[in-house]
Amino acid sequence: MYEGAVQDLIDELGRLPGIGPKSAQRIAFHLLAADGADVRRLTDALTEVKLRVQFCEVCGNVAESERCRICVDPRRGDDVICVVEEPKDVVAIERTREFRGRYHVLGGAINPLDNVGPDDLRISELMTRLADGAVTEVIIATDPNVEGEATATYLSRLIGPMGLTVSRLASGLPVGGDLEYADEVTLGRAFEGRRVVGS
Ligand SMILES: [Zn+2]
Repeated sequence: MYEGAVQDLIDELGRLPGIGPKSAQRIAFHLLAADGADVRRLTDALTEVKLRVQFCEVCGNVAESERCRICVDPRRGDDVICVVEEPKDVVAIERTREFRGRYHVLGGAINPLDNVGPDDLRISELMTRLADGAVTEVIIATDPNVEGEATATYLSRLIGPMGLTVSRLASGLPVGGDLEYADEVTLGRAFEGRRVVGS
């Protein structure tokens, strides 16, 4: 539709999650009209995030070194691991201040329609962590939707026979959505009222 660089920008923006063609076009023209310094801050932030941020070798959360700040924090308990789909879920749960253990980020959820199976998630890494005996409870905090439920069921069947307590967040979370959409109070209550599943 447009020439060269403008169309390239629209195409790249349009590949971002949640940004349709109209939004891509609007953002592109906003950037065209914006101050050079503002645009430079954005490009710097994009470059920096790719340079400095990596995924924690232990839990899969975002980190600025090999391990994330939660994995290196000596005040956190090693006996409970909370399993989530994405790093943004770690942020959502941290906001509730209900949890003082460690996390494990799967990198998504089981979704046959998108060809995402257990092997595509960081499940073997989780099993390795559980094998060392320090962990007594695994809290499965996947999203309250079909994929999150399927992942939770899969995990509880896998972990249950290991003799660990496996729990799920209490109901009351907005069904069908992302964990991050729940407000802190609701998510905090779901955490506190978590129920033990399987064994
Ligand atoms: Zn970590």
